[in-house]
Amino acid sequence: NPVAKAPRSESALRVSFEFFPPKSPDMEQQLWQTVCELARYNPDFVSVTYGAGGTTKAPTFSTVERMIGEMRLPTASHLTCVDADKAETHQVIADLRKLGVRHIVALRGDPASGIGTAYQPHPQGYANAAELVAGLKEIGGFEISVSAYPEKHPESADVSADIAMLKRKADAGADRALTQFFFDNDVFERYLDQVRAAGITIPVIPGIMPIQNLTQLKRFASRCGSTVPAFLDARFEGLDDKPEDRAKVAADVAAEQIEDLMRRGIFDVHLYTMNRTPLVAGVLHRLGILPVEAAQAGAAA
Ligand code: FAD
Repeated sequence: NPVAKAPRSESALRVSFEFFPPKSPDMEQQLWQTVCELARYNPDFVSVTYGAGGTTKAPTFSTVERMIGEMRLPTASHLTCVDADKAETHQVIADLRKLGVRHIVALRGDPASGIGTAYQPHPQGYANAAELVAGLKEIGGFEISVSAYPEKHPESADVSADIAMLKRKADAGADRALTQFFFDNDVFERYLDQVRAAGITIPVIPGIMPIQNLTQLKRFASRCGSTVPAFLDARFEGLDDKPEDRAKVAADVAAEQIEDLMRRGIFDVHLYTMNRTPLVAGVLHRLGILPVEAAQAGAAA
């Protein structure tokens, strides 16, 4: 087991890492290098995304199988219910269980025709993530995480419609929510206040996106409903041709956001790794979090 669990205090940061299944041999090599390197930071859990409608079923399966079987990492598999009838979804759940999966990130997903097309539930399927959570609870034996949207999901009429869906998912038995990425902690704190006022008590873990490329991020963020604040333009100004400076600023930006969350009493974060080590490791080092063996050597000295 490459990951010896170190004891942690209540006010220490707990991290989880999100990966996506590789689409080519090169990407596969990069993924495993990244997983091996980031495993040394002792994550609470790692998660692997799932292509909506089962489009990445085989690579998601083989990725979680290796993370659990070979690397002994606490691994969550994402699962979407879009474009699948209940029998297909139940088969995937049974397959994941056989692979050793005991934690599922339960999602509705987007139609194969793309984000922005009107969502049509499968007539024999789970209509949304809340129904999927209820189905998983009935089957039993899984820890369940769900999504949350501090700036609302693009299809939601308003934040309260979004919080109503989160409440349905929590009431159906979800154990925690992982949020879409955001950059303004005030927005998150206001959202969390509304979530608690709605009687939702499960942990809501902020999703943090270290910025590999601001221009690409802006395109992606507009589809996810996440705001990219103007201060980020200023931070990355003039760095287009300076990758090293850009990486340093990106690590600073994410680390400052996490430090500010910790000042607000939030000690769990879910990091979107984009299957790359350097930036995530840069963020963790900037926060004083070292790979397990380095931290142990430091403690022994
Ligand atoms: P739900 O929780 O069912 O709904 C989300 C919100 O959308 C609700 O608040 C609700 O108010 C609103 N809404 C839902 N349906 C409707 C409707 N018909 N009309 C109006 N409003 C509606 N996608 C993948 O394909 N694979 C993944 O692995 C994956 N992982 C993700 C992980 C995280 C942490 C997050 C935040 C998102 C992830 N997604 C993934 C994206 C997700 O599938 C999409 O955002 C999808 O559009 C909604 O799925 P959901 O489970 O969040 O939906």
